[in-house]
Amino acid sequence: MKYILVSGGVVSGIGKGVIASSTGLLLKMTGLKVTAIKIDPYMNVDAGTMRPTEHGEVYVLNDGGEVDLDLGNYERYLNVTLSRDNNITTGKIYQQVIERERRGDYLGKTVQIVPHVTNAIQDWIERVSKVPVDDTGEEPDVCIVELGGTVGDIESAPFVEAMRQFQFRVGHENFALIHVSLVPDMHGEQKTKPTQTTIHALRGLGLSADLIACRLIIPQPLENATKEKISMFCHVSTEQVVGVHDVSSVYHVPLLLQSQGIVGFLQRRLNLTSIPYTPAMKQRGSDLESRWRALTGDQERLFDRVSIVLVGKYTDLKDSYMSVTKALEHSAFRCHQKLVLQWVESSDLEPQTQETDPGKYHDAWKTIVGARGILVPGGFGQRGTDGMILAIKWAREQKIPFLGICLGFQLAVVEWARHVLNIPGAGSTEFDSELKDDVIIFMPEISRTHMGGTMRLGLRPTVFQPNTDHTKIRRLYAGSGKIWERHRHRYEVNPKFVDRLSESGLDFVGKDEKGERMQILELSDHPFFVGLQAHPEFCTRPLNPSPPFLGFVAASCGVSILEAQIESQLKTFKPPHPEESMVAESELVNGVVEETSITEGRERALKASDGR
Ligand code: GLN
Repeated sequence: MKYILVSGGVVSGIGKGVIASSTGLLLKMTGLKVTAIKIDPYMNVDAGTMRPTEHGEVYVLNDGGEVDLDLGNYERYLNVTLSRDNNITTGKIYQQVIERERRGDYLGKTVQIVPHVTNAIQDWIERVSKVPVDDTGEEPDVCIVELGGTVGDIESAPFVEAMRQFQFRVGHENFALIHVSLVPDMHGEQKTKPTQTTIHALRGLGLSADLIACRLIIPQPLENATKEKISMFCHVSTEQVVGVHDVSSVYHVPLLLQSQGIVGFLQRRLNLTSIPYTPAMKQRGSDLESRWRALTGDQERLFDRVSIVLVGKYTDLKDSYMSVTKALEHSAFRCHQKLVLQWVESSDLEPQTQETDPGKYHDAWKTIVGARGILVPGGFGQRGTDGMILAIKWAREQKIPFLGICLGFQLAVVEWARHVLNIPGAGSTEFDSELKDDVIIFMPEISRTHMGGTMRLGLRPTVFQPNTDHTKIRRLYAGSGKIWERHRHRYEVNPKFVDRLSESGLDFVGKDEKGERMQILELSDHPFFVGLQAHPEFCTRPLNPSPPFLGFVAASCGVSILEAQIESQLKTFKPPHPEESMVAESELVNGVVEETSITEGRERALKASDGR
């Protein structure tokens, strides 16, 4: 196993994740099998309880792991399926060490950061790196380990020390380090001092960079003179210094790194050519490279534009919607259109009060009125939901293509109940636990006391109902009777209202295996109006866009494009999940959902709501 550690210095948030995933992709293009581990040095056990505006989107894996959004980059770039163990946090490591201490595993010893915590980190990395992640079902050849934060932080110290030891554990020819640094441009002069400082700090901790990736937050490349200076002051050859300037799209980063010779360097440094390559491996690699080149080349030649409006509540930090943005991008590539994504903060759409800003209200509605497609993504809590409902009403009545994801799906049901069924008080108990017209209710099996890792999480099946063969959404999934998507929610459509909703024309075309839980809706007399309780954005791939997103973007481009994409999906769509993960919901064993309690719990919940 070859390990490539990607660390960062100077500042965080300069694209370490993209550089790490791009390196993995380049090695995959040579035919190797690549996996990835992300280390987040925070105390949270997982990202599940973090506010999206603080740390970006909470990404969800097949096994229900709620993880850092970089795992999404890895899954998409490397076309792999990762598990919750591929995200290491200080919380997880400490939890493990403390559990062992209580069990008596270290009996008689003083338990310390070095060696107990640092050993736990190294053992974890070694164990997880060997787990197969792609459709070959074989052990990977290379593991990319990305260390979050910046070297020198108090939080990351145990991890840096663990990696210092690790280079000796696995041997020099099996461990390389890429350090990502910032090269600021001051009035046209590229400054090297921050890079010198961070490389010195790294060396003081016992790690030396094999490659220094210099981020420039400008469109101009790294100058040769800068490269030479960094080489001289940081004790590396010039071939070990690569520049990563701003490019028109992140999909160009792999080719930018490739053009600077990093593949050849890593092959020599890690003796990668000694790995026994089969002709099949080489073929897979070169197929991947040509498809990637075609994708990035096509992107440059797009002139038709499709403008999509995302109506959300975390729009202050665009990373909160990372996977949604990617799913839209992948779909727009497939439709050969350039995506113009506009953001509307949903509360700006709400009627004027003393506090609201009339300018923002006007601008928000102007954007909605100009949209060719309206998307309402997932979210938590009441703030902004009335604005989302108004946007959904507009999309439904004006026949503008609409996609509702999770909260967006639930609110589409609320909107219908309020305006078609004429139940003005209809809503979700998420916003008012005493609500009488509770069309969206708390799921009976979910914990009311513990917030971490207790939602309905991970890959779960949806069964298309009888007589749904003609629906757009089912055809986008190549007509399959059963599909699998990742979930993350606590609330659901109240079964008590389902008959009234369906009879009035709101078709629930997809349900869970028992037919009890409403999971997909589609309106038939609309160009495209689809809602899903799941989060299909977590399973999109650049070369295999998520079907609901593809349908939505295609419909926003026009009816004929939607029909053409449906035709193509019917012929070629394959789910991106490994066979073994597509199991019945009752076979899921992640300790979150106890199947037996669902029906009992539901009966209790139904009785309780009848009694109100
Ligand atoms: N807040 C809603 C729920 O918990 C929707 C969740 C989401 O959009 N991910 O069910």
